[in-house]
Amino acid sequence: MSEFIPQEEKLFKAYGVLWRSYSTGHGRSYIVDNALCRNQDCQTTLKPKGDAHYCVKCDKNYPYKVSHVIDRESVEKIWEGHKTLDWRIYSLELPPTKIVGEDEDENYWIKVKLSEKSGKRMAVIYFGEKKKNQDKTDYSQVFVDFEDEQIRFDKNNKNPMKILCKFTAEFPNSEIRQRKKKK
Ligand SMILES: [Zn+2]
Repeated sequence: MSEFIPQEEKLFKAYGVLWRSYSTGHGRSYIVDNALCRNQDCQTTLKPKGDAHYCVKCDKNYPYKVSHVIDRESVEKIWEGHKTLDWRIYSLELPPTKIVGEDEDENYWIKVKLSEKSGKRMAVIYFGEKKKNQDKTDYSQVFVDFEDEQIRFDKNNKNPMKILCKFTAEFPNSEIRQRKKKK
């Protein structure tokens, strides 16, 4: 237990006390067994005592939620997730083909790819609202059929007219327009 390296100069507040993370130097990191006193003028390492963490300096008990072991494990799980909060989420539910164009802002994203379906060349446009847990019904899938000059939507996904007010596709010989009905 001697080669543990403090991972970051951060303390995490959970279950009424403060916790530190450590790394083993082999890429593994975890939450230290003993929490710290939540009194910010103290932050003494707490000792397990009965069903509580005990601060020798403040002479104060911080009761466990469940038990020392389970509390630490739970805090570690919350912390593992916390570390990823600002990570970008890539959907593996979209077909794994090469994307030829994409863009996004804070609220929406769009991706365009070219594909072949039943020997026909087609553009597939995906767009949707940004959501933490992207679901099939959060985005639209629009197929642009160049040969037949047609537009098709995938009914398993969100109806594009729930995201757009107007949709226009211009082909060499025709034009397709969709407009949201006024309420
Ligand atoms: Zn204390």
